[in-house]
Amino acid sequence: MPPKKKESDKSDDKPNGSVHPEAHQYQAGDSTHRDIDAWKHREPYRVHENDENFDVKWKGSCHCGKVKYQLSREKPLASKYCHCTTCQRLHGSPFQHAAIFHKSDINFTHGHHDLGWYDPTNKDVSHHLPCKVSCAYCRAPIMDEGRNMILLFPPLIEGINSKKGREAFRATCHMFYPQRVVDFEGDGRVKWEKLDNQSNILDDEGNVLVKYEEGMSADDMDKKKRKKLEMDEDDRVKKLKGSNKEAKV
Ligand SMILES: [Zn+2]
Ligand SMILES: [Zn+2]
Repeated sequence: MPPKKKESDKSDDKPNGSVHPEAHQYQAGDSTHRDIDAWKHREPYRVHENDENFDVKWKGSCHCGKVKYQLSREKPLASKYCHCTTCQRLHGSPFQHAAIFHKSDINFTHGHHDLGWYDPTNKDVSHHLPCKVSCAYCRAPIMDEGRNMILLFPPLIEGINSKKGREAFRATCHMFYPQRVVDFEGDGRVKWEKLDNQSNILDDEGNVLVKYEEGMSADDMDKKKRKKLEMDEDDRVKKLKGSNKEAKV
């Protein structure tokens, strides 16, 4: 139970009153030209007043429609499924589908307005990177904002439920697969034990297929992965040719 306040405490003379200024930093609103608010005018929240300068390839919006954005890139830089428990809880979903874009690829048509933030590391609602970004009204998750990139959630994109949409945003891998709520047996996507290119690759049963060695660079792990996948592909083709021969006999 909090200690009871004395009547005299109400008018105490703390430098900023009894409210910490940073407690309101997350609230969307007009800039007060403080350095702390500078990010509101940088990508991805820089408001583009003239859409003609922005080559729109896809459009997205939250459920209530207050948050709208445009994308200038045909395909994400990468598309992944994350099965980590943080993603599961924050999305109320078995896994997260994240499509990676540069911050300059997106244009929120109302800038930072109507957006809310959550920093899963410190469990607070300030705009502290990396953080989760959602609609402040309908609470639809919009993206994860990293220091350099954004991880956008494709189901908010218009046309995602089409062949073109599915192909453009097709996920190529699973991350944190051992924490999964649902199985993806035989789906042909690479299954990482933890983060992609920074952990072991697993088969559908959870056995290590490609081992990540401690201190290995992401590039080296990527090469090791490609080599293994090429070998598997060669084996598959050989087997296929073998069975074709048998079929002809
Ligand atoms: Zn909304
Ligand atoms: Zn995750």
